[in-house]
Amino acid sequence: MAAKKVAFYTLGCKLNFSETSTIARRFEERGFERVDFQEKPDIFVINTCSVTENADKKCRKVVQEARKISPNAYVAIIGCYAQLKPKEIAEIEGVDAVLGAAEKFQLIDLLGTFERKPEAHATVLASEIREAKNFEEAFSYGDRTRTFLKVQDGCDYSCSFCTIPLARGASRSNEMENILATARKIAQTEVKEIVLTGVNTGDYGLINGERKYRFYDLVKALDEVEGIERIRISSIEPNLLTDEIIEYVAHSQRFAPHFHVPLQSGSNEILKKMRRRYLRELYAERVAKIKSEMPHACIGVDVIVGFPSETEELFLETYNFLNELDISYLHVFPYSERNNTLASEMTDSVPLKKRQERSKMLHILSEKKRRYFYEQHLGKEAKVLFEQEHKGGMMEGFTENYIRITAKYDPLLVNEIKTVQLLEINANGLVEVCEPVWV
Ligand code: SF4
Repeated sequence: MAAKKVAFYTLGCKLNFSETSTIARRFEERGFERVDFQEKPDIFVINTCSVTENADKKCRKVVQEARKISPNAYVAIIGCYAQLKPKEIAEIEGVDAVLGAAEKFQLIDLLGTFERKPEAHATVLASEIREAKNFEEAFSYGDRTRTFLKVQDGCDYSCSFCTIPLARGASRSNEMENILATARKIAQTEVKEIVLTGVNTGDYGLINGERKYRFYDLVKALDEVEGIERIRISSIEPNLLTDEIIEYVAHSQRFAPHFHVPLQSGSNEILKKMRRRYLRELYAERVAKIKSEMPHACIGVDVIVGFPSETEELFLETYNFLNELDISYLHVFPYSERNNTLASEMTDSVPLKKRQERSKMLHILSEKKRRYFYEQHLGKEAKVLFEQEHKGGMMEGFTENYIRITAKYDPLLVNEIKTVQLLEINANGLVEVCEPVWV
C-alpha cells in the first residue's frame, strides 16, 4: 500500500517551526511521505499561532486552501490557537481534528488511521493547559539554512496583553545534556547556524518546576560545541539579559552579536499597565551595555502600539525613547485584544485607525534605524552565511550582526560562510557585497 502523503503548514514563531519540523520527522519515521502543501496530500497538519486576531483568521484561510487543494484530505490543527479555542476551530468547516499543547506531539498515535468522518464533528483532544507539563524536544532541520533549536517552553510571566502562558503553559526547559547532545548531532550535519528558541528563552533552566540552570550556563556550554559556526539567541527579555551574558557573548567563539529584546513600550506608565518586569531605564541601560561591549552589535526591539490608555503624549514618549536609543530595527505590533487577558478588560481603548497610524510611524522609524545601522558597516568586511534560495539570479544571506546582504547567485556559496566586503545599500534596503574571498 502506498505511503500516505502528509503536508505541513506553520503559522507564527520560530518555536512553532521547530515543533512542526520535529512532528514531520516523526511522520516520516512512521513511513508517511512528506509532501508540499499544494501536492494533494492525504493529511494536512496546520500548526497555528494566536498572538493576534489576525493569526486566528489566517488559520481559517489555510484550512479553506487545504480543502480546495485536496477535498478528501484529513485536516488536523495544532498549536497555540488550537489550545486556546479548540471548540471554535472544531466548528470551522473542513477541520477533522484539533489537538492541544499536551497532545500535539502524540498526534500520530492519537489520530491513528486519519480516516475522515465528514458527517461527524471534529475530534477535539485538548486538555487543560496545566496538563502541558512535559518538555517536548524540538528542532527544525532541512527546511532552512539555520536550525531553530527549542531549549525552553511556556512562561511564568503574566504580561497583561499576552495569551501565550494560556496557550503554552508554565515555563519549563530541556535538560542541558539533552540540548548539548542535540547540538552535537546538528554539528555533524551541514547546518552552520543554530537559533536558540523558546517562549521566554532567557528563563531557561526550570526543570520540573525547579531552577536547575541559568540561561548563562547554557550559553557557556553551547559555546564549547565543536562544529557549530554560529549560535543566535532568538529573543530575550530585558530583565533576563544580564551583564554576564552580554560580556560572554562579546568574547564568545560562536554567539552572534545580535540581541532581539522585547521592549513593548517606552512609557513607564504603559509598561506598568502591561505588567512588564522592568522600566524603560533598565532597557536603555541594557542597550548601552551591549553597545559598550560590542559597538557593532545588532539590537532588535519588539514594541506594541495602541495599548489601552496610550494617549498621544504617551505614544510620543515611546517614539522619542526609541528614536534616542542606539538600536537597529523594530518589530511593531498594533495592540490586539486577546480573550482572557487583563488588558482586554481595560477601558480607554485606542481606536484601530490610531493604532495603525502609530504603527506606520514606527515602521518608518525602524527603516531609518536599520539604514543607519547598515551604513555604519559599509566598506567593512563581514562573514556572511549565504542562504539556499535563488531569487531571480540573486541570493541573500546574513552577517553575524544580522545585516541582510544580496549577491549574484552562486551554487557554490549555498550554506557557506564567506568573508565579503559590504559595499552599498540597494533600493530594496539590502547590502550589496563584493565577490566573496575564497580562502
Ligand atoms: S514574557 Fe510576557 S509577553 Fe512574553 S510570553 Fe511571557 S507573558 Fe507573554
